[in-house]
Amino acid sequence: MSTDFERYDPVAIEEKWQAEWAEHGTNTFTTEALRAAENPFFNLMMFPYPSAEGLHIGNIYAFTGADVHGRYQRLNGRDVFEPMGFDAFGIHSENYALKVGVNPNDLIPRNVANFTRQLKRMGGMFDWDHAVDTTQPDYYKWTQWIFLELFKGGLAEQRDAPVNWCPSCMTVLANEQVISGLCERCDSQVEQRQFRQWFFNISRYADRLLDNLDGLDWSDRTRKAQANWIGRSEGAEVAFQVQGSERQLQVFTTRPDTLFGATYMVLAPEHELVDELTTDAQRSAVEDYRSDVAGRDLVERQKTDKEKTGVFTGGFCINPVTGQPIPIWIADYVLMGYGTGAIMAVPGHDERDFEFATTFELPITRVIAAQGEDASSPLAEAYAGDGVLVNSGDFDGLSVDDAKRAIVDQLAQQGLAEAKTNFRLHDWCVSRQRYWGPPIPIIHCDTCGPVAVPVSDLPVLLPRVEDFKPDDSGISPLARVKEWYETQCPDCGADARRETDVSDTFLDSAWYFIRYPSAEFGEVPFDPELTAKWLPVDTYIGGHEHAVMHLMYARFITMALYDLGHIAFEEPFTRFRAHGLIINEGMKMSKSRGKVVLPDDIIEQYGADTLRVFLMFLGPFEQGGDYREQGIHGPHGFLSRLWQSVLEAEDRTPDPEVERKLHQTIRQVSEQLPDLQYNTAIAAMMEYLNVVRAGGRTAALGEVEPLVVMIAPFAPHLAEELHQRLGYNDGVFESASWPTYDPAKLVEESLEIVVQVQGKVRGQIQVATDADEDTVTQAALANDNVSRFLDGKTVRKTIYVPGKLINIVVG
Ligand SMILES: [Zn+2]
Ligand SMILES: [Zn+2]
Repeated sequence: MSTDFERYDPVAIEEKWQAEWAEHGTNTFTTEALRAAENPFFNLMMFPYPSAEGLHIGNIYAFTGADVHGRYQRLNGRDVFEPMGFDAFGIHSENYALKVGVNPNDLIPRNVANFTRQLKRMGGMFDWDHAVDTTQPDYYKWTQWIFLELFKGGLAEQRDAPVNWCPSCMTVLANEQVISGLCERCDSQVEQRQFRQWFFNISRYADRLLDNLDGLDWSDRTRKAQANWIGRSEGAEVAFQVQGSERQLQVFTTRPDTLFGATYMVLAPEHELVDELTTDAQRSAVEDYRSDVAGRDLVERQKTDKEKTGVFTGGFCINPVTGQPIPIWIADYVLMGYGTGAIMAVPGHDERDFEFATTFELPITRVIAAQGEDASSPLAEAYAGDGVLVNSGDFDGLSVDDAKRAIVDQLAQQGLAEAKTNFRLHDWCVSRQRYWGPPIPIIHCDTCGPVAVPVSDLPVLLPRVEDFKPDDSGISPLARVKEWYETQCPDCGADARRETDVSDTFLDSAWYFIRYPSAEFGEVPFDPELTAKWLPVDTYIGGHEHAVMHLMYARFITMALYDLGHIAFEEPFTRFRAHGLIINEGMKMSKSRGKVVLPDDIIEQYGADTLRVFLMFLGPFEQGGDYREQGIHGPHGFLSRLWQSVLEAEDRTPDPEVERKLHQTIRQVSEQLPDLQYNTAIAAMMEYLNVVRAGGRTAALGEVEPLVVMIAPFAPHLAEELHQRLGYNDGVFESASWPTYDPAKLVEESLEIVVQVQGKVRGQIQVATDADEDTVTQAALANDNVSRFLDGKTVRKTIYVPGKLINIVVG
């Protein structure tokens, strides 16, 4: 073996090929090419927030996994469109601008430039001609247009609403952004405030958003998270008559079968009937409790593990099935925002009600019993299991499911119940009292109300504001810019005022994938023909943390655009895969804990290809892995050996043993790559290269050429360079196709079977590995040496040990 081969110099190779790709437009489509593509494959990954100093290793991990997928599809003959962009509006970017004290109008373009440099350096197959930046007027003009389409379609409206308010970020938070009562960004205690807000009526789409999940090829855990978030519950609304009053209390329950066990009622302290229901004797206790609760935030109130608190109002209502009066309480864990703000408490069969009843010595009745269980046996804890009804009058003996229907039917006849479906999904609050976002394109007129800005006046430009810091008033910084918000009503011409809230970043990212193919069009949000050709997205890869917000909002906006007649599909992402997270030396990577690894130094030292292979080798891509930097030597050594083997390869016939291993490897890698099983595919290629180089042997060309193609999705620069050195003029992604394996070459061709006669070895035969017993027997009997020992004797039987030996018994 020669030792003076040219060393693998990743930095030089990578610079060369990145320049080559840019110059030849290897990864970019012209509009004509987008229109002409015969086998389109839209490979989407979640575009980054360019908020911090740069991409960290976790971002590179996600993008590399998605890029490997796109490159693999391309080598399999697909026309792969892999765009990239920047989700550059919003609180992440704005908070970072506040932290470093630079106006986001100056800071964000710098961040975008740095992110772009890093993304190019990692060797992604990104179509930079179709990049989008959500802060550019040519993009947010159409974000505003979408807002107006929803407004005109009756899907956007303004209303007063209690909201989660972070006093430190000085902004409204979605429920999902409140973790254990604290702001997910800054860990401040979240407060509850009332604001006039813009909402999108996503809850009207709840059924469809849930039902469509069945038809989507998505990661299971993501689908489950969506289903939970939508939270459809089938049940009934039941009316409880207030004792001594014409009033009724409406209650939603998913367990009408347990109505006979409803021994008391609990209202939210804010419920409108509390004043009326409260007796004089209880009034001061109720008032004290209500003012106490007013200071608690919504999330804290719903925690199940906290001590139960509550107060009796003094009032009673009638259980509609028993006809008996039950006491009415108020407690903080019942909220107005969910259902009706009142619950029927069934302590026998609900854990929280059981604890509450135990604390306040309220009656506990068993109404469900497991088969064979004694109906009168006392309950030591809430029984949530299945069974039959007991202590339930005429309904005793019915199953839970039958009783649900029967009890609701009977109450419905009396006008006291109605079957109903409830959802956990709330309408989407899209207004933000912040600066860094697209202004909501509405003009408020005293006479006409909220009026849409005419489309011809879009975009409503975000003015440059030096004092962009939000304050505790909860009013947008734009409300301080009089010369901006003073305008005329488009309808009547009177003096009017622009909406000074900006829209939620999640609206920017709810449609960016539709914009990508049409990124260069100024006159339309998306070109109908290109949209029809490229969408819905074939594969979307991103973080599971976006399962409930981004992915839900993108599905909703897509459905709304479909309903409004703008696009022909209602689901945006045919296939979604959530990637895993990587941790650093066993610790979670997070900015606040200083465990973030930046890719730049590693790429400078080992090259992007090595980093890519290393990251994809850390563990199953959908599960993540533990990043330990010393581990990078393995992948680096592998690529160096591959480099050496290809440069040294001889033009001769491949060795059959090596060739068999090659075909086995091709099969394994071809099966695993589409399923994102990258780590095991890389392991198979490493193992194969070891076979090629076993004992210091030099490779034959045919043994390593297919490996160059198979490693290309992971190490695209190295593959390009080797492909060129193998004599090809066109790039590996343009001219090579994915290697195929020959099933006939997968298996050992033959094996040796020992032949015995009367237990003594008399010969060996070669048979095909898949030969059956009959074939083996015939071959054994035909063997020259064996037949000498059989001469003149009768074969009584044969004993075959598959793959090993055959014993011939004669007599
Ligand atoms: Zn905060
Ligand atoms: Zn007007």
